[in-house]
Amino acid sequence: MTEKLTVFWDERVLLNDTGTAFGEVPASPLLDVTEAHVENADRVRNMRAVLRNGPLADRIEWRDGRLASHDELRTVHPEEYIREVADFITRGGGYIESNTVLSEEAWPALLAAAGTSLAAVDAVLTGDTSLAYALVRPPGHHAQPQQAEGYGVFNHAALMAERARAAGLKRIAIIDWDTHHGNGTQECFYTRSDVLYASLHMRHGTWSATHPQTGSPAEIGVDGGMGFNINMELSLGAGDAAYRAAIDQVIAPVLRQYHPELIICSSGQDASAVDPNGRQALTMDGFHAIGSRMRELADELTDGRLVLVQEGGYHLSYAAYCLHATCEGLLGLAPELDDPVGYLPDDPRHGDADIRLAQSYLARFWRF
Ligand SMILES: [Zn+2]
Repeated sequence: MTEKLTVFWDERVLLNDTGTAFGEVPASPLLDVTEAHVENADRVRNMRAVLRNGPLADRIEWRDGRLASHDELRTVHPEEYIREVADFITRGGGYIESNTVLSEEAWPALLAAAGTSLAAVDAVLTGDTSLAYALVRPPGHHAQPQQAEGYGVFNHAALMAERARAAGLKRIAIIDWDTHHGNGTQECFYTRSDVLYASLHMRHGTWSATHPQTGSPAEIGVDGGMGFNINMELSLGAGDAAYRAAIDQVIAPVLRQYHPELIICSSGQDASAVDPNGRQALTMDGFHAIGSRMRELADELTDGRLVLVQEGGYHLSYAAYCLHATCEGLLGLAPELDDPVGYLPDDPRHGDADIRLAQSYLARFWRF
């Protein structure tokens, strides 16, 4: 069992000021009191704080992140798109699409998020550590190669997977439990079998013309990627037990047959019971279970090589606590923090029908 979790952090991820909003869209003129855009610097400040100040503090090694280079960004995103985003910021920024805000200071913030994600995967690829976490913002999993979305511009998980491929690894699994479907990551690898993408998410469907992916379990990949895109879509309010069952009955069996050499996790906490952007009712127990299952799968399949990148999670306090619970699971430790909101009963069979449906689409490719 790994003793330490190595967390990569770069202060510059705080620089993008997303301002005030009504959740994620411009603030309403009908209201007196505005609030911060849900994707804001305080989210990750609190995540860093709970890891520094909580029971796990002495199990965590902090490392500095860095800026990504253009060459590194180009492993996923075309040059013209990178330039478009940089020019948009130089012209003063604003909403680059319906819910993604970039301020005048956003460029170094975006490069720091991408570079710090790459620093984390590099540490695992070189054997410096086997368990690393890139604590960055904004989320990256909605970013398609040429389309910013969902607060993000560059797809960090995809950049990390391409880095691992360039280092010679032949099979990489990305497991994504942000409550939203990682449509950008799916798009990056939809035709490929060298990077298997598996997402656990709430049923939300497509949400704009630039977001044609639905997250349905019927989206299994195309051509050589057929069978290597796993969409474990769960009904609203799924709960802890449904997530545990979905991992045990869909994700884990596929991974055991795929034999990845590295597991990359898109780690979000917006499936929590009180998240402003999620409806999945997970508690700290559920996040602890996800963390411990990822640790077990990595120990069994990848010599323990496991790297995570921060995605969503928008309740300023509870997302931080759920991250702490996830990390306790990753380290094989019992939960130590009391859960201030996890008191509602859970339905242990809530996910059954969704799990059977996902298995039915995948049964041509994998044994369950
Ligand atoms: Zn999300």
